[in-house]
Amino acid sequence: MQSSDRGTVLMVGETIDGRLSAGSGDLGKQALKLAERLGGRPVGVLTGYGSDEPARTWSASAGISVIVLEHARCRFPNPSMTASGVAGLVDEYAPRAVCFPHTMRACQAAATLSWRLNVPCVTAVEAIAEKNGHFELKRSIFGGKLCRTVSVGTTPLVMTIMPGTGSPSMPTAVPDVPLPVAIRRLPDTDPGAIPRRIDRRKEADQALKKAQVVVAGGRGLGTPEQAGLLDTVAAMFKSAAVAGSRGACDLGWLPHSRQVGETGRTVAPALYLACGISGAPQHLAGMRTSQTIVAINTDPDAAMLKVAHYAVIEDLGRFLPALREQYEKMTDKGRRL
Ligand SMILES: Cc1cc2nc3c(=O)[nH]c(=O)nc-3n(C[C@H](O)[C@H](O)[C@H](O)COP(=O)(O)OP(=O)(O)OC[C@H]3O[C@@H](n4cnc5c(N)ncnc54)[C@H](O)[C@@H]3O)c2cc1C
Repeated sequence: MQSSDRGTVLMVGETIDGRLSAGSGDLGKQALKLAERLGGRPVGVLTGYGSDEPARTWSASAGISVIVLEHARCRFPNPSMTASGVAGLVDEYAPRAVCFPHTMRACQAAATLSWRLNVPCVTAVEAIAEKNGHFELKRSIFGGKLCRTVSVGTTPLVMTIMPGTGSPSMPTAVPDVPLPVAIRRLPDTDPGAIPRRIDRRKEADQALKKAQVVVAGGRGLGTPEQAGLLDTVAAMFKSAAVAGSRGACDLGWLPHSRQVGETGRTVAPALYLACGISGAPQHLAGMRTSQTIVAINTDPDAAMLKVAHYAVIEDLGRFLPALREQYEKMTDKGRRL
């Protein structure tokens, strides 16, 4: 691979126990599109252990060359070792941009890298363009209500990109010839914390995945006691589960195993009731493909309403008990919908 190519765009994916992580899935295609837009050459970077197979698959499906940074301590995502390894590639390739998927672990690696290189880091990028030699990056703020454009003139730019950003609207032509996949072993530097495993919390996963109806609550619940309202509504249905936004889970109102979104579970039930959830992109990433979405929110401008099929502009503390009351009037005792 050529070095010192100022047009290089490094796309850093991650593997978990020898498999490409879900967040890295469409990174390869995004790399092609971004590199095309920035007039550069995409190079994929994967950290992991025993990751040559996913690297070859990634390279073949996206049509990019891939460098694997290998170490046993990277079997599970290791942000500090990823940052050190990528810093070495930045010295070698002098890239214009280094892109990570917008996941919790990749955000840690991106922040560490930007600190090491003393360059800006922009997170949760949704669109990218170039104007007068500056990167123009769009990102959502205030739970998706406003869109902010950030202009950055220094390189390399470190950024985390939202799923779908830069995805080609037309399929990108992938070369028939295999592109190089280079395996490099990371040095045995002080690793800091070594990630040992990732708990998948199978039980909660299954309950949420199988449920036909998901009743989800956010910070709009207001108090932990109000979370009980979600249970009374879920009990109306034969196949239902209670879930929450990260806002509600971080406050301890619902268990983290029930968090829906980019850093939680992904669900696509027949009915998703979003109660007091603003609709931040990270939450939408985990539920926007639900068949029917009903938003219950006091704010008519909440981002959730843009993806919802039906909206109830009302205090959930009034609406949910009224819904339950109607259900009890209309159905025989104990009969579930
Ligand atoms: C790297 C990263 C990963 C993330 N991953 C996730 C993730 O996986 N899942 C996730 O959910 N978030 C995630 N987030 C956080 C996300 O950006 C938002 O901060 C979070 O989703 C907001 O939670 P919320 O909608 O409950 O709270 P808020 O944004 O505070 O929204 C509360 C909503 O409730 C409404 N409301 C208030 N009172 C009432 C009432 N009485 N009745 C009805 N409505 C009411 C308000 O109008 C508002 O719309 C992530 C963030 C980052 C940076």
